[in-house]
Amino acid sequence: MHPSALFAIDGLLTDEERDIRQAVRQVCDQEIRPHVADWFEAGTLPARELARSLGSVGVLGMHLDGYGCAGLGAVAYGLACLELEAADSGLRSLVSVQGSLAMYAIWKYGSQEQKQEWLPAMAAGERIGCFGLTEPDFGSDPGGMRTTAKRAGSDWVLNGTKMWITNGSVSDVAVVWARAEEGIRGFLVPAGTPGFAVHDLKRKVSLRASVTSELVLDGVRLPEEAMLPGARGLSGPLGCLNEARFGIVFGAMGAALDCLETALAYAAEREIFARPLASYQLTQEKLADMTLELGKGLLLAVHLGRLKERGELTPEQVSVGKLNNVREAIDIARTCRTLLGASGITLEYPVIRHAVNLESVLTYEGTSEIHTLVVGKALTGLPAFH
Ligand SMILES: Cc1cc2nc3c(=O)[nH]c(=O)nc-3n(C[C@H](O)[C@H](O)[C@H](O)COP(=O)(O)OP(=O)(O)OC[C@H]3O[C@@H](n4cnc5c(N)ncnc54)[C@H](O)[C@@H]3O)c2cc1C
Repeated sequence: MHPSALFAIDGLLTDEERDIRQAVRQVCDQEIRPHVADWFEAGTLPARELARSLGSVGVLGMHLDGYGCAGLGAVAYGLACLELEAADSGLRSLVSVQGSLAMYAIWKYGSQEQKQEWLPAMAAGERIGCFGLTEPDFGSDPGGMRTTAKRAGSDWVLNGTKMWITNGSVSDVAVVWARAEEGIRGFLVPAGTPGFAVHDLKRKVSLRASVTSELVLDGVRLPEEAMLPGARGLSGPLGCLNEARFGIVFGAMGAALDCLETALAYAAEREIFARPLASYQLTQEKLADMTLELGKGLLLAVHLGRLKERGELTPEQVSVGKLNNVREAIDIARTCRTLLGASGITLEYPVIRHAVNLESVLTYEGTSEIHTLVVGKALTGLPAFH
């Protein structure tokens, strides 16, 4: 029996949602799964080609309305994230950053001209975007950022460094958050703007099939129209992060599901002491415990998705989902690794790749500690951040 069948998850989905899940799964099976271990090993990702493929099935910015976006519901978007992350967290990161961070920022806070210029091409995967909030000295506390935006006549001049930026060097446009006199503002910085340099971060052990870059802004001069008019203060970038975190609630369960399916198949085949590994009680306890956490995580994800579709989802509830599902996904990946024995440490199986990828997922879009503090504040009314 398939683990999610025990929870009758499919019965909670519409036909359209199941079709979208199937379409994304097909792209992953054809274009990603056969190559992703090699990309991971080499530390590369053919982001441009993949963006076009994913754009052609309508996955990029699929939860946004208009401007070439599909305008689908939150659960459909979540299921796409689940399927992508079942292939690799790096793929889901590419899509999350494109759709929920870069496109969402333009869609939510941009001018009509900015939306027309960027969104249709980004939805089609012809152009890629990134989202520069984190700095070398400010990750969990982005309000301390040092990147500045100063007025120069009718132009703006940006100076600073952004760190750990997904899609950085493959992006046509960077959404950069900077401190202006009136507070934090967002800017669209096209690739190739004088003074704007991008360097890839090497020697990653996690999320290797993903582009991670440093953005350096050295006197980058931008016209007034480059500023996102609708975003003022930290609530601008935080609103985008909330969108992307929601995708992770589903995505992490995709990585966990891929590990569990792999472990189930392996345990059925592997003979130990002349019996299948799956026939031992210790193994079945591991499989049962993992299935419980997976099922609960999927139910939570669908529930949060339905709340989002009704406009009722709060940031604290997204924190609950991200904290729980990433934590459980890592536990599942590690337990599956034990079931595969030595084979579990190789890239012949996806399990160790998911396990190390999930270490990044635990940290980005708000670390597990920060989400714990968000939940703690919701429960007690007392902020314990500093
Ligand atoms: C692969 C990858 C891709 C990324 N992509 C992007 C991107 O596209 N755009 C972007 O802007 N950023 C991106 N990030 C950055 C990510 O969001 C940050 O790494 C994250 O916010 C944590 O910041 P930090 O690494 O500076 O850790 P720090 O903030 O220095 O945290 C270090 C430790 O301190 C803990 N901590 C922090 N505050 C408290 C507290 N109050 N109490 C107790 N403990 C605390 C943290 O939980 C953590 O365990 C990416 C990161 C990675 C790894």
